[in-house]
Amino acid sequence: MKNKKLPKVAYFCMEYALDNSFKAYAGGLGILAGDYLKGAKDHDYPVIGIGIKWKQGYSDQFVDKNGKPYDTYHNYEYNFEDTGIEVSVDIRGVEVKCKVWKLDIYGNNAIYLLDTDIPGNNDAWITGQLYGWFGEERVAQEMVLGIGGVRALRKLGIKPDVYHFNEGHALFAGFELMKEKMDKGASFEEAWEKSKNEIVFTTHTPVVQGNESHPIERLMYMGANHGLTEAQLEELGGNPFNMTVGALRLSRKSNAVAQLHGETATKMWAHVDNRSEIVAITNAIHTPTWVADRIFDAMDNDGDLWEAHMENKRELINYVKMRNGIDLKEDVLTIGFARRAVPYKRSDLIFSKYEVIDPLLRDGKLQLIFSGRAHPLDDTGKGIVSNLVKMAKKYPHAVVFLENYDMEIGAKITRGSDVWLNNPRRPKEASGTSGMKASMNGVLNLSVLDGWWPEACNHGENGWQIGNGFESENEKELDTNDRDSLYKVLTTEVVPTYYNDKPKWLNMMKNSINDTREQFAVKRMLEEYFDQLYA
Ligand SMILES: *Cc1c(COP(=O)(O)O)cnc(C)c1O
Repeated sequence: MKNKKLPKVAYFCMEYALDNSFKAYAGGLGILAGDYLKGAKDHDYPVIGIGIKWKQGYSDQFVDKNGKPYDTYHNYEYNFEDTGIEVSVDIRGVEVKCKVWKLDIYGNNAIYLLDTDIPGNNDAWITGQLYGWFGEERVAQEMVLGIGGVRALRKLGIKPDVYHFNEGHALFAGFELMKEKMDKGASFEEAWEKSKNEIVFTTHTPVVQGNESHPIERLMYMGANHGLTEAQLEELGGNPFNMTVGALRLSRKSNAVAQLHGETATKMWAHVDNRSEIVAITNAIHTPTWVADRIFDAMDNDGDLWEAHMENKRELINYVKMRNGIDLKEDVLTIGFARRAVPYKRSDLIFSKYEVIDPLLRDGKLQLIFSGRAHPLDDTGKGIVSNLVKMAKKYPHAVVFLENYDMEIGAKITRGSDVWLNNPRRPKEASGTSGMKASMNGVLNLSVLDGWWPEACNHGENGWQIGNGFESENEKELDTNDRDSLYKVLTTEVVPTYYNDKPKWLNMMKNSINDTREQFAVKRMLEEYFDQLYA
């Protein structure tokens, strides 16, 4: 019944994290997209996915003997269904053929993936590596996703009511929608207005540099302008052409991915005229993927939650032993931290005051398990990874770095740690979903009030906040504030509660699970997207 009334949605995304054997994802964006599509299937919402069949996915990132990260790539073989459909896109004036594959394990919520790696294509490598290479290649990849994606829908006979661009990468799909109308005689303004009514957009990063832009000349050279003039491109995306600005102007409604992010994004894009309103819809997770069954079993059947947690913790400890050969102890307070290695996430904040952290690690009061990865072209990020590896060498019995952060590590570490640490520079974390995975597993969040956490945090009851919501343009001031707060909460609340007040700890675990398991599960997010964005 429900589906009769619901609009049909085509969801465009560069990356999907579906399962760990197919690394068509780089990070949180793909995790969100994968969880969303899985949720749509479970709860019977009419959403299909459009993406790219990456030949090598994202890199596998390991650390060499000197503690330096390096990247390797391998080709993926995966069972896709051949739709028999091919579309083409003109890129740099050359016709590029794109084969359309179907991933139909999601039933009615199939994901269609475009692939340029077919005989006869000069540009077979466009779909080679997710976010691979440089500006021109990125544009080519986005043309395949956007223009090729809409053409694939047409050939498949799928008629969406709404085109949902998850991030600005899919913007050229909007150009194709406009072109269809202009080819039938519509003016630029008419085509813009009409296409806009079919498009919604989700914006993610509140870090300015994270919002991709291109020189207008590059878009013209690539043919990404798709029939639009330079002046028209500028009217949409500015000059240089910003993909987020373009998507804000070519959508009827946009959303940010947490309530605080809604405010941040609205401020951040206030200078953009003629753009869609930005509402806030907080991200959520697909619980069957991330939460250990034994945790919800214990909660629902009056079971032993502590023992269920210890099972998860032992699995993590065994995993660390298998991966790194290190024996961690199951009765020591264990903090997990796994993130993309970028400066604003401050992976090493906890090491910033030696005299506080050193005794905790040396005296066996604390174990830290890190994972993370840098973008293959980001030397600063690689430096962050190296620094964590250095700490692991310095405290071989208390600090661990798991290389090649992926869904498997993500799941193990958000299930088996005691505490989940998150300390970005507020308000740079759009949402974060790893904290939701942790909270539903009874792993207590120790987090800056950024992203989703202000919506769930009840300090000392279901986790802890650090930093008191302080913000400052002065990074040094902000870092000092958050560092001092982190150490204060850690030494006066987290450590004493863990060692001296187990009943309270257990109670906090229960609160953590109860306060988040519905609010941050994907069903709520689907309802809000359908009510607020697609309706
Ligand atoms: C959950 C997850 C993410 C997203 O988590 P954040 O909180 O945004 O860091 C990224 N990568 C992997 C592998 C994950 O499992």
